[in-house]
Amino acid sequence: MTMSNTYEVIEKLLDKNMYSRPGSKMKGKRGVCLHWVANPLSTAIGNRNYFNNLKNQGPEVHRKRYASSHEIIGLDGEVVVCVPKDEVAFHAGAKGYKSRVHRLLSSSPNRYLYGIEVCHPDWYGKFLPTTYKTVIQRVADLLIEFGLTPSKDTIWRHYDVTGKDCPKYYVQNPKAWDQLINDITYVYNQKTEVEQVSELLEWQKEMGEKSIEYLEKEGLLNNPEKWSQTLGENVPQWLFWSLLERMDRRLK
Ligand SMILES: [Zn+2]
Repeated sequence: MTMSNTYEVIEKLLDKNMYSRPGSKMKGKRGVCLHWVANPLSTAIGNRNYFNNLKNQGPEVHRKRYASSHEIIGLDGEVVVCVPKDEVAFHAGAKGYKSRVHRLLSSSPNRYLYGIEVCHPDWYGKFLPTTYKTVIQRVADLLIEFGLTPSKDTIWRHYDVTGKDCPKYYVQNPKAWDQLINDITYVYNQKTEVEQVSELLEWQKEMGEKSIEYLEKEGLLNNPEKWSQTLGENVPQWLFWSLLERMDRRLK
């Protein structure tokens, strides 16, 4: 079981259209940007369908709406993917940005930020525990995938990019936002530690197999298959001494 299998991912890509999935390419990944859907109790799939329906804005609509995100995290903690990771979504655009945004994300944040909309039960906008859990796990997984480390330079609120009151609860309660970043960092560290340990074990096994192969060729070890299966176990004392003896005899 991999650690990432802690939430359900449903891919329901938007149809390509100029209002929500233009098909233009991301220039890179510099972080993720979190939003609230600003529609209490609406579902992830419902919000996805809303984005998809923007393609139907006809000539009677004078002020066209452009909006989307790469994915939406729902009330049950499910992830609905709307836009492929290498394509731009419309979630953090504005006419102008503060200097910190320019410095970290250039003049087009949408080309560098992976957008995540999050569902919520009421107008306070605090995420439900199930939803929150997925947000933490999912952002940690995405940062690992993008080769980024968690910080306020890589985890953005919509507010940090444009000043918009979004995701509302985490703008109104800066301590809750700090906590969220801490929680992501904790999970990120856990996940990367697990990866490092399994990489180390893999490396040790390879080393062991190579040595067994060599020792067999040199006539110092019989039954290489049997010894390969015991890699990872402790060396029995008698084996250690008997190998030393065999090596010593050869040197004479
Ligand atoms: Zn937003």
